[in-house]
Amino acid sequence: MKLDNIKTFISIGAHCDDVEYRTGGLFSRLTRQGARGVYVVMVENPYVGSGYIIKDAATALATRRAESLKGAAQLGAARVEFFGFKSYYLHTPDRQTVFPAFRSREETIAMANEVTWYGLPPVQNAYLFPECVARLVNLITEEKPDLILNHTPNDRHPDHYSVGRFVELVTNDLNNAGANLTQLHREPGSGGSMGGWRPTIFFELSAADVERQQRAMECFPSQFPGGLKGYAERRARAFGKLAGVTFAEGYTASGGGADGSWSRYDHEWERCVAMPADPITVIPLNA
Ligand SMILES: [Zn+2]
Repeated sequence: MKLDNIKTFISIGAHCDDVEYRTGGLFSRLTRQGARGVYVVMVENPYVGSGYIIKDAATALATRRAESLKGAAQLGAARVEFFGFKSYYLHTPDRQTVFPAFRSREETIAMANEVTWYGLPPVQNAYLFPECVARLVNLITEEKPDLILNHTPNDRHPDHYSVGRFVELVTNDLNNAGANLTQLHREPGSGGSMGGWRPTIFFELSAADVERQQRAMECFPSQFPGGLKGYAERRARAFGKLAGVTFAEGYTASGGGADGSWSRYDHEWERCVAMPADPITVIPLNA
C-alpha cells in the first residue's frame, strides 16, 4: 500500500473517542503527509466514565460531541460527521442505562417507556434502513476515499461490532457496483475481540504521531476523568514490536464475503482459514 496515493481517507468510530484511540496514529501520519482526513462518529451513546457527573443524556451527548470536535482538530481532521445512529444501549433521559436482565419485569417496562430515542434507527439494524445506508453511501460518494478505517466485526462491544459489520456490508455493496474501495479494520476496543485478532498490516508511526495521538486522546475527560497517561506510546510500542519498528499501528484487511456471508465461495473460505498464517506487511515511514 503506497501512502502517497491516499489523498482522502475516512476513519469511522462508533463513539466519540474511538477514532482517536484506535486510529489516531495513522490519522496523524496521513494528515501530516497532506491527506484529507474525514472523521465519523456513527453512534449516539450518552456514556460518561465513572466519577464524571452528568445527570441528563442530552447534556452528556453534547459534551461528548464537543470533546470529539477537539480530538478531531488535534488529529487534523478536515471534516467531522455525527451520524446519530441509536446505540445498542438504551438510556432514559436521566441517563440511566436500561439493562432488562438485571431488573424486575415492572421496573423494565417502566424504564423502557422512558427510553430516549436519538436520531436514526439502532446501529444493529442500520443495514436494513435505507436512510442509514444512504448516510454512509452519500459520504463515500462525496469524499471518494482511498482508504476507509473501520471497527472490526469481531469486536466484543455491541456498538463496535455493529458499526464494523454495517460499514463492511455497505462497502462490499459499493465494491460490487465497481467502487473499488479499500477498507482496513482496527483493533477491538473495550472487552477485546470475540475471537482472535491478529493484525497483519502495520503503519510505522513517528514519535510526533504518537504524541499527537496522545494529545487527541486527552480531549475526552468525560470518558476517562483521570486521563490515560502514556497509553498511545505503550500501544504504538506493542504494535511496533510485532512490526520490527519503534512505533506502529496495526490493522487487518477486510475479510468475509462480498455478499456479507462466509459460505458461498471457496475463496472466502480460503481467506478465512488462511488468515492466521497471512504474512505481515510493514509500511515504513518513508513509504
Ligand atoms: Zn467505542
